[in-house]
Amino acid sequence: MATVIPPPLGVLISEVGPRDGLQSVAATMATAHKLRWLDALHASGIREVEVGSFVPPKLLPQMADVAEVVRHALALPGWTVMALVPNLRGAEAALAAGVHKLTIPVSASAAHSLANVRKTREEMVAEVARIVALRNATAPAVPIEVGMSTAFGCTLQGAVADAEVLWLASELVRVGVDEVGLSDTTGMANPAQVRRLFLALRAEIGSKAGAAHMHNTRGLGLANCLAAYEAGVRTFDASLGGLGGCPYAPGASGNVVTEDLVFMFEAMGIATGIDLATLFQARAPLLAGLPGEAIYGMTPEAGLPKNFTQGSQNV
Ligand code: ZN
Repeated sequence: MATVIPPPLGVLISEVGPRDGLQSVAATMATAHKLRWLDALHASGIREVEVGSFVPPKLLPQMADVAEVVRHALALPGWTVMALVPNLRGAEAALAAGVHKLTIPVSASAAHSLANVRKTREEMVAEVARIVALRNATAPAVPIEVGMSTAFGCTLQGAVADAEVLWLASELVRVGVDEVGLSDTTGMANPAQVRRLFLALRAEIGSKAGAAHMHNTRGLGLANCLAAYEAGVRTFDASLGGLGGCPYAPGASGNVVTEDLVFMFEAMGIATGIDLATLFQARAPLLAGLPGEAIYGMTPEAGLPKNFTQGSQNV
């Protein structure tokens, strides 16, 4: 099933900082700080959050407390709690923890797939099929999303052909995935490409076309989100303070900044359900939990324009 957008919202902003952000920085945020950060994100009106990855703590010590973090997030009402799972074992643990939704990374680039998960893309499709079977048997109401990484280019391989992305998307839908989104893992996308590829994705898999996950590596994050919006995308991944990157994509830094993305949409009269002033306050617990870490965001630094009100009055 596609992500459900509550009726008054124009777009769904999916906050991925607690997963994409925290797993990309060297420091580990203490659990108590993560919980305070989640509380602050929830208070701002965020409706979907990627709270962590179910991966062995040996590989990602930053995520060792993921089950506890999930438990806390599930106690907060009115949002979708999502976790990343790279394989069947992770999916078993995430479903046992009671997450609302699973997201699985699958690389469009053959080289990135081998480097990241030591599996070919075909082997990943087979793994996804096993996760779908588990979900169907044990938690049929839990949607499964694939975030297709390196869909717009790969630091290892270079260009990734549109045809490869579309082939992989249709394979994933064939094995039962509910949504396939496209990720600019390495910050190589441009708006013309984003528009072209999301339109083609919708033509290929219809309403199962999912979120845009853009990075700001070359400053095009917001432009790429706008291009995706114009191509019909209504769910956008972003991370507070632009925290994040990909440890397996050298040089890739920074998700699109949630604060700037929410400002862009609200200024255009496209409702996000998120209160900007409260969202800015969520930077404090993030910084408290990661002292000295660089965070980004032009809107929180500049402040809101005089007489700015959220919603259509600014159009
Ligand atoms: Zn990312």
